[in-house]
Amino acid sequence: MFNAKAYSAASATSLLAHTPIKRRDPTPHDVQIEILFCGICHSDLHAVRNEWSSVMPTVYPIVPGHEIVGRVAKVGSAVTKFKAGDLVGVGCLVDSDRTCPNCQKGLENFCPHMTLTFNSPDKHGTAPVTYGGYSDSIVVDERFVLRIPSNLKLPGAAPLLCAGITTYSPLHRAGVTEGKKVGIVGLGGLGHMGVKLARAFGAHVVVFTTSPGKKEDAIRLGANEVVVSRNADEMKKHAFSFDFILDTVSAQHDIDQYIQLLGLGGNLTLVGGVTKPQSLSSFGLIFGNRSVSGSNIGGLAETQEMLDFCGKHNITADVEVIPIQKVNEAYERMLKSDVKYRFSIDMASLKSE
Ligand code: NAP
Ligand code: ZN
Repeated sequence: MFNAKAYSAASATSLLAHTPIKRRDPTPHDVQIEILFCGICHSDLHAVRNEWSSVMPTVYPIVPGHEIVGRVAKVGSAVTKFKAGDLVGVGCLVDSDRTCPNCQKGLENFCPHMTLTFNSPDKHGTAPVTYGGYSDSIVVDERFVLRIPSNLKLPGAAPLLCAGITTYSPLHRAGVTEGKKVGIVGLGGLGHMGVKLARAFGAHVVVFTTSPGKKEDAIRLGANEVVVSRNADEMKKHAFSFDFILDTVSAQHDIDQYIQLLGLGGNLTLVGGVTKPQSLSSFGLIFGNRSVSGSNIGGLAETQEMLDFCGKHNITADVEVIPIQKVNEAYERMLKSDVKYRFSIDMASLKSE
């Protein structure tokens, strides 16, 4: 094992602070990565504050972070995909059983035995649970390491590993393409990636935001139209018109108002990790053969496909790069919907700890 630097939280009410941790020495199939940037996903905040206790309780200390980009420092003797110096990424998963029907289909994100990048039992026994990307290094089996296209700037490429795949996968599955009208609810980290990707797929994109101050940015990011969702008149204009709406909101909210905007057979997909029950009207669904679904990140092959698509179209997240010492402040800003549009931690800042 070797020593690494990380930021962790000791309890649901503690601030994140510098903590030395151990990482395992690479086994034959492992890749040791020097982490250069890590995005801050709202899921990090949910987990740090144990807001998902009913679904996946947090084990403390927690080292969050699952939007990791970095450079390969070392590879194990049997690694074939990577060599020292390669630019790579790691998302929400670092392992799975590889044999279940979902793994066989490339849907490791639905493996009943998957290992999440943080807060999953650590099969290697390095620590009680896995520690994520708010750290200067990580060791991951090569099967769960992705290639980062060389043209992408790294601070903005990091958020592709979660925000990118979590929006790419449902948009892709819904067959979003030219001629489709697509709504994106919530202009945060996921939402702004959803806008960029839906536009790249050729759709007509409408952003729904609670923040009137984000209107100009929404257009700059690629939206064709912007609606302030608290304005009932603006909402009504879009009734019965959408093929697909992707809802990225991180808190309890009125989803019925979006169901009303779906056209015949339209679908609303929720990705926000809201644990409180949300009401929906059966008649909203019945009058229009509409449906509501969920979507969970994406499998490894699809994540690589998304990265290659972003490389081809030169798509990255709009990021505010911060030193890790500002992470607690960033969390408070995220809660105020004040993120433009993803924080990306520059891990060089850990050197001073
Ligand atoms: P984020 O950057 O904080 O963005 C969320 C946005 O939702 C905010 O910027 C805000 O947009 C809107 N919003 C926040 N509170 C709201 C409220 N009370 N009512 C209405 N709108 C509100 O968060 P994120 O990182 O994009 O993550 C979004 C959610 O997705 C989180 O719950 C996260 O855990 C979850 N997630 C799920 C998956 C998955 O696989 N399903 C993967 C990653 C993340 P406006 O200012 O535009 O209104
Ligand atoms: Zn995430």
